[in-house]
Amino acid sequence: MKKLLPTSTVGSLPKPLWLAEPETLWSPWKLEGDALIEGKQDALRVALQEQLHAGVDIISDGEQTRQHFVTTFIEHLSGVDFENRKTVKIRDRYDASVPVVVDAVARQKPVFVEDARFLRQQTRQPIKWALPGPMTMVDTLYDDHYNSREQLAWEFAKILNQEARELEAAGVDIIQFDEPAFNVFFDEVNDWGIAALERAVEGLKCETAVHICYGYGIKANTDWKKTLGSEWRQYEEIFPKLQASKIDIISLECHNSRVPVDLLELIRGKKVMVGAIDVATHSIETPEEVADTLRNALQFVDADKLYPCTNCGMAPLPRSVATAKLEALNAGAEIVRQELLAAD
Ligand SMILES: [Zn+2]
Repeated sequence: MKKLLPTSTVGSLPKPLWLAEPETLWSPWKLEGDALIEGKQDALRVALQEQLHAGVDIISDGEQTRQHFVTTFIEHLSGVDFENRKTVKIRDRYDASVPVVVDAVARQKPVFVEDARFLRQQTRQPIKWALPGPMTMVDTLYDDHYNSREQLAWEFAKILNQEARELEAAGVDIIQFDEPAFNVFFDEVNDWGIAALERAVEGLKCETAVHICYGYGIKANTDWKKTLGSEWRQYEEIFPKLQASKIDIISLECHNSRVPVDLLELIRGKKVMVGAIDVATHSIETPEEVADTLRNALQFVDADKLYPCTNCGMAPLPRSVATAKLEALNAGAEIVRQELLAAD
């Protein structure tokens, strides 16, 4: 029988401090050359081990081989100048130093396929691989060539599809596209964002997911959340079109957030990765708090479609905090799993 409530993380985990500066986004590597390659692989082994030890069911690479979930992918493409970076406001919220698109973008070689193959060799558990979504890529760079967000997103979607097909061939079970920008630019999401995402998953036979959140627990994001009022209804704008899309799984922020849980009714029928761990605080959830969030979601998500998860990536957290949160997630999921089995 297939396991009920299989757990996973959104993707990123903290890096060991011998590999990169801890608790920092865009943290520079501490190693170079062959030592860096080996260091990344060792960090991936540690991330795998920590997930297995905590009881995580669907394993990710912890994003140990990338500096950032969007810019690392962009920097591997031709047509991009990543040395002369520019500072732009991303997600309509905060300044970031980003690569510049200077010419037609293309993927000359695989970006993460070797890393995925390496992870595949290390475990028989199902594995999930995260890629940036086309709209979030467009929103995390400076475009000096296309002058059209939609057209550039379409080019990225074709590139992402090439990468995704090779990840699938390498044995990845779930390919996830991270689209925090979906929570900001609703008109664009409905006009072309979801269409671009569907172009990125074209022809895939593995499962596909989209992750939409309120961001890492950095100050710009927590300040932004304070402006959103008592009910966060952003998801409502895009759920109807997502429900009708070809994407199999939708990954959402549900814990400690002000998202009204009944919005999940709008995506009934989809599998939902329910965020039950808050990444914006260092305090560790109790298993009972995790269980509560999952029980609330169960009113609107069928039990066989509910995947307990984290709200977002845990890259900026201290390692000890991230490890404890992984354990809380699994302990909370186990409580609800037993309740469901007892009621069956
Ligand atoms: Zn996120």
